[in-house]
Amino acid sequence: MAATFTCRNFINGKWLENTDNRLQSINPASKNEIVATFPRSTDEDVNSSVMAARNAYKNWRLIPAPARAEYVFKVGELLLTHKEELAQLISREMGKPLTEARGDVQEGIDCAFYSAGEGRRLYGQTTPSEMPNKFAMTVRTPIGVCALITPWNFPIAIPCWKAMPALVCGNTVILKPAEDTPACATKLIEIFEKAGFPPGVVNLVHGIGEETGKSLVEHPDVNLVSFTGSSQTGSLVGEICGRLHKRVCLEMGGKNAQIVMEDADLELALDGAVWGAFGTAGQRCTATSRLILHRDIKAKFTEMLKERASKLRLGAGYDTNTEIGPIINDKQLQQVRIYMDIARSEGASILIGGGIASEGTLKEGYFFQPTILDNVTPNMRVAREEIFGPVVALIEVNSFKQAIDILNDTNYGLSSSIYTRDVNRAFTAMRDIEAGITYINGPTIGAEVHLPFGGVKQTGNGHREAGSAAIDTFTEWKTVYVDF
Ligand code: NAD
Repeated sequence: MAATFTCRNFINGKWLENTDNRLQSINPASKNEIVATFPRSTDEDVNSSVMAARNAYKNWRLIPAPARAEYVFKVGELLLTHKEELAQLISREMGKPLTEARGDVQEGIDCAFYSAGEGRRLYGQTTPSEMPNKFAMTVRTPIGVCALITPWNFPIAIPCWKAMPALVCGNTVILKPAEDTPACATKLIEIFEKAGFPPGVVNLVHGIGEETGKSLVEHPDVNLVSFTGSSQTGSLVGEICGRLHKRVCLEMGGKNAQIVMEDADLELALDGAVWGAFGTAGQRCTATSRLILHRDIKAKFTEMLKERASKLRLGAGYDTNTEIGPIINDKQLQQVRIYMDIARSEGASILIGGGIASEGTLKEGYFFQPTILDNVTPNMRVAREEIFGPVVALIEVNSFKQAIDILNDTNYGLSSSIYTRDVNRAFTAMRDIEAGITYINGPTIGAEVHLPFGGVKQTGNGHREAGSAAIDTFTEWKTVYVDF
């Protein structure tokens, strides 16, 4: 089938002519359908985009921040107008159900309006000087050319989370989107184009991570790399940036847990577990992949979860009945399948699911059955490694302390959750959990764009996205002394 979209690179305000060296994205719910073709960009393409961004930076940084913010505000308005069209495209190219796809675009919209407001809040400080007739202050300055390297699971929201604050702060940007979602990225950049940014301020370069992405990270004229993706890739990116002394913001994997204590509202906890574990087919960095259950409620809660999970409706994201969409591609599908063998060999039992779903039209796509693994112990690989599929591991505990210890016993630290009616436990959990985000009586998913987002340990390197914390990532402090 012919591709619906022919994606191009957008450099210096122009959509570039197509090359013959092209790759394709497909509909994961219908693998014979090619959604888009996109260029396999070379070092030369990367260089052109960096030169354009470097050149545009000279003037863009001098435009007052509130005026820069107006462009970003305009992107928010245009995203609103194109929300349904973009959501349909996300569902087709990435697979998530339409309701979630609309949420993906809405995050971009919220981020645009929030970041635009930051254009009037790039506060510095004035402080007393030690000396007479001297004035001391701090001002925020932009960093320069920012490479934004993004994954496929939030193809609109994540580029927006990076681009909006970066631009308001006076940087120019080059987006290198994931290979699985080039059409979403192209449609997004068309919206930036419509918003009227000066040429070179916003650029798009498609390509393979190990080629185009790496080339951008290594380019000497890229000043900052903002990366979201796997911990494995993030480590490579971080190493290169360390060597080249460039600022790097890493948002990586997760192995998030939800604790359910014996005093919890079980219906509420069930909702959290179902959508945290199986929403977006488990392909969220904040997905619940471990359920830590107090032994007094474990049997009952497990039955409730089995009952709900076995009724979840799988299908193409754009079918209105669908609750759980496909896995992004065959490689990832096989990866999830392999973890089932690992689980069995380690002594875990598969309560429901455990295999590729292939009934009826599901065989046309990459679907995996919602899966519950029982008898999991904290040292098993399925309790420690990110699976990135609709798979949740049940771990039994005897006490609140043991629950927190096991939740923390991971290399990752993005999101976390505890369901309890005990306010003391809630506050103790808030204090003792080692994660960037903690929910009390809520699922591990559901970030809000005006609050900092990011993780500790192997999930992040200390920077936060979203909220005013993003301004720290995309600006440099300058201290100024004025003698008079
Ligand atoms: P990935 O690491 O394979 O790819 C992410 C991006 O990096 C893509 O654009 C890819 O082309 C690029 N890339 C790959 N190799 C590269 C290299 N050597 N140099 C430079 N760029 C390179 O991740 P993915 O499969 O697209 O996304 C899934 C992962 O992302 C999961 O681990 C998930 O937890 C994580 N994620 C994290 C967050 C967060 O905020 N912490 C959010 C969403 C997804």
